[in-house]
Amino acid sequence: MTRYANYIDGEWLDGPTFSRNVNPSDVDDVVGEYSQADVQQTARAIQAARKAFASWSLSTPQQRFDVLDRAGTAILARKEELGRLLAREEGKTLPEAIGEAGRAGQIFKFFAGEALRLGGEIVQSVRPGMTVEVTREPLGVIGMITPWNFPIAIPAWKIAPALAYGNCVVIKPADLVPGSAWELVKIIAEAGAPAGVINLVMGRGSVIGEALVNSPDVDAISFTGSVSTGRSIAAKCVETGKKVQLEMGGKNPMVVLDDADLDVAVEACVNGAFFSTGQRCTASSRLIVTEGIHDRFVEAVKARLKTLKIGDALAPDTQIGPVVDERQLAQDERYIAIAREEGGTVFGGERVAASTNGFFLAPALITDTTPTMRINREEVFGPVASVIKVKDYEAALATANDTEFGLSAGICTTSLKYATHFKRHAQVGMVMVNTATAGVDYHVPFGGRKGSSYGAREQGSYAREFYTTVKTAYVNA
Ligand code: NAD
Repeated sequence: MTRYANYIDGEWLDGPTFSRNVNPSDVDDVVGEYSQADVQQTARAIQAARKAFASWSLSTPQQRFDVLDRAGTAILARKEELGRLLAREEGKTLPEAIGEAGRAGQIFKFFAGEALRLGGEIVQSVRPGMTVEVTREPLGVIGMITPWNFPIAIPAWKIAPALAYGNCVVIKPADLVPGSAWELVKIIAEAGAPAGVINLVMGRGSVIGEALVNSPDVDAISFTGSVSTGRSIAAKCVETGKKVQLEMGGKNPMVVLDDADLDVAVEACVNGAFFSTGQRCTASSRLIVTEGIHDRFVEAVKARLKTLKIGDALAPDTQIGPVVDERQLAQDERYIAIAREEGGTVFGGERVAASTNGFFLAPALITDTTPTMRINREEVFGPVASVIKVKDYEAALATANDTEFGLSAGICTTSLKYATHFKRHAQVGMVMVNTATAGVDYHVPFGGRKGSSYGAREQGSYAREFYTTVKTAYVNA
């Protein structure tokens, strides 16, 4: 059994214990044993990052470009192998996982360029003889806490901008899937990041995550995960004066209007709700359908779901991989049962036997639901979507916005008028027209509103809002 160590100050160091990383498609397959750091090792990693910040923050953009560009090249060259590891530890299908690994490489390439593009402003002063300069500087040590559902893309879209703008990083990946982040950190180290610039501490959120959040030597926390964890982290960050960015859950609506192209709508909804086993923060979990197309739409979605092959993430013909673990599977089943008790009609949603011993669940489509049911208010985070029948566009928009979340929202329509109105009035950070609510570009801002997000946006050039701090200089010439 291969054992994997933490990476601290340029060295690979075992922690006091190890945790098994198990394949959700086949629990008899152990991906590896991953070292669990303790609080002392986390403190060492933070100190290493602090020390490295003195020179990395003053490195030239060319130095930072070179490290990120080399890392991006290595990730892209190894995307098949990294994708296989990702599929094995998280359960995404192989094409989805290879796509995610490729995305991580593209992100590094993009932020290599961003290191060169960081400019400032010169502004005329209101006072004679004076010039005002506005520049950006790195923040310092960034603590990163990431979830299990995008094991390489989320670490990539946090680490790449942090390093591009001259910060140092201590990352704690999700305890369920440390393997992809481990490979990513190794690639960055081999790409020439000096000791202490990137540090990896694996282990439990309640130990390692807390240690990062509470440390006075961490300047900012970038978190992606659930609402409850995010909110408690934010409160502690305010207490200790840290900058904080949270990306959290969703209950994303997809509106389907009578005038929609049925094939386009079915594809957008099935992809958005069920691909990646529905384990995406941007998954379309509420399908809000106007009454003229409702019955045809529901029948067409059911027909499409019947064609999907569920099974081992690594098998070439699999379209829906397993649920990530036993606990998430129990949560998915609990919500399906609650929906049924509340009056919903459930299609699918049963456990599926496959050739391997994994957590396989057939996609569940729940019809006859109302907006107040728990299935339409709480995030399930599995292959479960509900259908809400509404009278017209106005009711659809009101229902779409009737949620504590605000990550992404979609509309399927051939009407320019409704598409335009929806883009403006959907209370979300990302809006999609005739395409799935999940699946985004890597060079533009990502994030939401309301209970889904807090703080500056991630990704694209907007990432600099979080990973830099602004300085205003006055020069009396
Ligand atoms: P989670 O909140 O359980 O865990 C996220 C991370 O926080 C993990 O690394 C975990 O170890 C750590 N953690 C747990 N307790 C902690 C504590 N007390 N202090 C510090 N860190 C702690 O979430 P999860 O189950 O890994 O991920 C699923 C959630 O992530 C879903 O709600 C999903 O919507 C959300 N998500 C959001 C986005 C987005 O960009 N909005 C993207 C992906 C996933």
